[in-house]
Amino acid sequence: MLQVDLRELARGPVETQGQFTGSDPLFEGLDVVLAEPVRVAGRLHAAGEGRFYWRASLNTRMAGQCRRCLAPVPVPVAATIDALFSADPDALEDPSSYPLAPDATEIDLRPAVREELLLAVPRWVVCRDDCRGLCPRCGNDLNAGPCGCPPAVDQRWKGLAGLQDKLRD
Ligand SMILES: [Zn+2]
Ligand SMILES: [Zn+2]
Repeated sequence: MLQVDLRELARGPVETQGQFTGSDPLFEGLDVVLAEPVRVAGRLHAAGEGRFYWRASLNTRMAGQCRRCLAPVPVPVAATIDALFSADPDALEDPSSYPLAPDATEIDLRPAVREELLLAVPRWVVCRDDCRGLCPRCGNDLNAGPCGCPPAVDQRWKGLAGLQDKLRD
């Protein structure tokens, strides 16, 4: 459970564990397709008046897509969450801190899961570093070999290429 009762925390650190499928409403609006549930495990403890630290690991696998050839690419996603939940507005300048209502009776850790997942997923996915991508003309996957389209010609050589075409005719 990732909603922790403050009375439980008053007795000592609380082990936290949770799992969220990709279709969980928590991830609504995130432009991320998950191939596996997000698993979270960590420990929440009090750190002074109205302050609570949560340290947890986050693991999942994203159903990525190569930006060049559009092939599906499974991408492991792993992150360490270091979050501060605080009722003190001054503490919230830190991007990894989350507000806690002064009259809160529990801490909801889920917003931190959403945020950290968003930070952990790569924006740029390629199937391999030397992926040749798709031909901009015919759309064939160039990793499978040349497609037969004439090579793209650098502007400087266009005149020369035109001349060669004329000679060939
Ligand atoms: Zn690719
Ligand atoms: Zn082509």
